[in-house]
Amino acid sequence: MSDRTAFEVLIIGGGVGGASLATVLARAGRRVGVVEREPVFRDRVRGEGFHPWGYRQAAAVGLDGVLERAGANPLPIWQGYRDREPVEPSRWDDDPENDYPEFAISHPALQNATIAAAKAAGAEILRPLAARRIERVGERWEVTIEGAEGSRQRLTADLLVGADGRDSAVRRWLDVSVTVDPVHHRFGGMLIEGFGLATDMIHSVSLNGGTAYVLPQSGGFARIYGGGQPELLNPIVSDRSGGALIELLAENLPEGAMANARSAGPMAFFPNSDIVPEQIAGEGWVLIGDAAGANDPSVGQGLSLTYRDVRRLSELLDAGDRDEALQQYAVERSAVHATAREHAKWIASFTMESGADAERRRAGFRRAQEIDPAHGGFAFIYTRGPMGLVADEAARRRFFNET
Ligand SMILES: Cc1cc2nc3c(=O)[nH]c(=O)nc-3n(C[C@H](O)[C@H](O)[C@H](O)COP(=O)(O)OP(=O)(O)OC[C@H]3O[C@@H](n4cnc5c(N)ncnc54)[C@H](O)[C@@H]3O)c2cc1C
Repeated sequence: MSDRTAFEVLIIGGGVGGASLATVLARAGRRVGVVEREPVFRDRVRGEGFHPWGYRQAAAVGLDGVLERAGANPLPIWQGYRDREPVEPSRWDDDPENDYPEFAISHPALQNATIAAAKAAGAEILRPLAARRIERVGERWEVTIEGAEGSRQRLTADLLVGADGRDSAVRRWLDVSVTVDPVHHRFGGMLIEGFGLATDMIHSVSLNGGTAYVLPQSGGFARIYGGGQPELLNPIVSDRSGGALIELLAENLPEGAMANARSAGPMAFFPNSDIVPEQIAGEGWVLIGDAAGANDPSVGQGLSLTYRDVRRLSELLDAGDRDEALQQYAVERSAVHATAREHAKWIASFTMESGADAERRRAGFRRAQEIDPAHGGFAFIYTRGPMGLVADEAARRRFFNET
């Protein structure tokens, strides 16, 4: 009988990233274990707007069915408002190379559907159990996991994957240091029921020093997000009922949009700060998802980056030598995140700020887009992804039409 505690790949963290990778690797016939500490996935105010390029990553590794089972709601239109009136909408298929919409997905529903898919594919789900310690023993890893009542057991693995989120303990145990960007703005939101506008579009409003969005989900729910500077957000965050956030949208969307809106979950706000690890892979270990680098949540790239990790890592592992695959993955992951991080800073410098400098940048952004509708390729970052884009100083100047 095979040793049920010995794995080819052991993934710490059974969120969207860890469970997706487990599904793909288990379908390919690998012996995979997933350690997940949460007995039940709850609403923690996480990624629920899913960009077209991310959906393409998921579809490429056969995970689109999981997204459908999670109730992904297509949002083909982006509808902005000025003075409570709709302005000319844009569509995700304005990009001639893209035929996917944005999707809105309940994050806990996606976690549930993904971990069920991993199990169905043959991965062993070790839950609710928390990883507590890792140790390199010869060519293998020994991982100590602990149940809620304090019982411990040991697992072994050839390849250890840290998929344990933005505050990754695996990363810490491996002595990987991180750069945490300074706080520029905060971003967060709340789930609501009773939203009164169309459910096939993103609704967005620009505010003085920030922005707010509504992403309608399936099942009559919608996620409302808000982001910005303390002057805008402090009064909202301090109303723990979420009433002030609903009111902010009610004042800026067409009459009646929020008349029947009520809270359907907790409200939470987070700093924008990107987290960048100095190393993403090493001998017999690799990080994916937020553990491999977390991006400013206000640009909604986290899920897409996570699915890119799953697609690319699984492809490279299939293709040949494991350690070369890990190194190649790490180089590409750093480059993709570096572009997403810079682009998020550019966007936040006029959407999440007020004042003359922000206005100047906003005007430059618009001029640049009139001259070059592709905006140096950055107009398509949400439909095609950051791959192949270089976000250096010259690109920044072009982005803002600075001479
Ligand atoms: C406010 C906010 C809004 C966001 N909005 C968007 C958005 O609209 N679109 C988008 O694409 N992205 C968004 N994101 C980002 C997105 O949520 C993340 O990129 C994504 O959830 C990362 O998935 P992950 O699996 O890497 O990590 P996580 O979702 O953090 O999963 C990590 C898992 O590891 C488990 N775990 C941790 N430690 C241990 C341990 N020691 N042992 C066992 N298990 C452990 C946790 O329980 C969890 O299940 C947002 C983030 C925030 C904060």
